Amino acid sequence: MVRGRSFASARTDGAGGERDRPESWRREWESLSAEIRACRLCPLGSIRTHAVVYRGSASPRVVFVGEAPGAEEDRRGVPFVGRSGRRLDAAIERVGLRPGEFGVLNVLKCRPPGNRFDRSAARTCRPYLDRQLALLAPRALVSLGASALRSLDPQAPAVLQAAGRPRPWRTIALFPLVHPAAALRSRRFAERWDSDVARLGRWLALGAKPL
Ligand code: SF4
Repeated sequence: MVRGRSFASARTDGAGGERDRPESWRREWESLSAEIRACRLCPLGSIRTHAVVYRGSASPRVVFVGEAPGAEEDRRGVPFVGRSGRRLDAAIERVGLRPGEFGVLNVLKCRPPGNRFDRSAARTCRPYLDRQLALLAPRALVSLGASALRSLDPQAPAVLQAAGRPRPWRTIALFPLVHPAAALRSRRFAERWDSDVARLGRWLALGAKPL
């Protein structure tokens, strides 16, 4: 059983408090993670250091979906561990999510050159994201940045229009945010990040119900 543990593609981050997961679930998750780590389906697979799979709870209430690994994530094989990750973790703490209640992953599992989101690679990589989300079965998603939002919801408006307002996504809800890296670069985006994170906290406190 997976209890009091979290997954970062077989790495733990010390989180706990997950609902029980059966052994069959654990085997399927480990098998999917191994498949991603060995993947060479698109050209990014030959230039990465590590494929970056997941960090967080085995039974997350909320999954944060970023765009692609950056340099630090590629080096360590864990999503959102650089400066953007620290900004994200501060926001997660601020909205009241405990370690066993959330997970973090990216649309693209391998770092694109120059951190430029690669749409063609994202199409090839997409089944991994869908399989991860089907297994994790969160109650809500939070997209981080324009490319993550568009990957999840191609009909969504521009990220500055969409951010801060939950929208329907399949049978659950998607809450878009601007990318935490943008909040580090620009005061305008930092203010937007702060106000939208406050909205996210209020929405989560009300139950993050499907719309
Ligand atoms: S980006 Fe995705 S599809 Fe491309 S090699 Fe990495 S895991 Fe495979």
